[in-house]
Amino acid sequence: MFQPKATPSKPPLRVVLCAPRGFCAGVVRAIDIVERALQIYGAPVYVRHEIVHNRFVVDSLKAKGVVFVKELSEAPPGAHPVIFSAHGVPKAVPEEAKSRKLFTIDATCPLVTKVHREALSHFKRGRRIILIGHLGHPEVIGTMGQLPPGAVSLVSSIEEVERLAPDDGRAIAYVTQTTLSVDDTRDIVAALKRRFPKIHVPPMEDICYATANRQDAVKTAARRVEAVIVVGAANSSNSQRLREVAEREGCAAQLVADERGIDWSALTNVRSVAVTAGASAPEALVKGVLEALDARYTIRLETLTAAAESMAFPLPRALREPIAP
Ligand code: SF4
Repeated sequence: MFQPKATPSKPPLRVVLCAPRGFCAGVVRAIDIVERALQIYGAPVYVRHEIVHNRFVVDSLKAKGVVFVKELSEAPPGAHPVIFSAHGVPKAVPEEAKSRKLFTIDATCPLVTKVHREALSHFKRGRRIILIGHLGHPEVIGTMGQLPPGAVSLVSSIEEVERLAPDDGRAIAYVTQTTLSVDDTRDIVAALKRRFPKIHVPPMEDICYATANRQDAVKTAARRVEAVIVVGAANSSNSQRLREVAEREGCAAQLVADERGIDWSALTNVRSVAVTAGASAPEALVKGVLEALDARYTIRLETLTAAAESMAFPLPRALREPIAP
């Protein structure tokens, strides 16, 4: 646990630490899958794409013998597994792996798999499917790739909803990426409902609990401070959304990979700052940011808790078996 040092000569800074922050259950599971695979099968273990969007996590796994590959063709068949990342993969990927007789382990977050199942169920019922999400994000590629090309229309804004083809008489449904802005998505869904009043709504919210809780916490904190530091990777969707949520509350917000990325000039004359972290950012990086703040300011630390989290996902069965002595 981080303990600030009291040094009277430094300017005071109130630091509001958001909770929950950092790792979600899907990220913990994905990293555990890789670690467990290393224990059972030994290095190298192959991982297709970044297991989660965080350089620190990726580099520490590389140091343990994980080989990250862009495409399956870079992984050899044999006893060393290829792991699919937490974001999920298009159907074509496990199919290709099967044809190449690769040994695969799927670390797709169960909450992403839930969205895949919803999309498939709509497709089987002959519904037109709208996906709310960001073009090019691996999760979106994976969700769209569950169905044949053209089966899913992607929208990321109200303008794109307005440009959708008119009602063609088919039933229509929407699903969403799990890591979107709760507020933006509400507006996009409202636009979809205006255009297609009978649209099928997901029975349970697709934006995951971790995304929603982290956004709740930073929104409340941002109303009480002058600046926000989000610890996370630039390519992490939920980290970017945390920065946006804080900015919308009128805060100067910065997204930093670690303490070296802090823009100190943006904190000139600031007397209160909130700190949070995206779902793929390890707590060690948050600690590094707190230590960097502590080195420049006399900090008064408080925690703002928006929700208690107890979610945990089991490992795939094959990895739950005990390792033979
Ligand atoms: S952010 Fe949500 S959907 Fe993504 S890995 Fe974490 S729990 Fe799963």
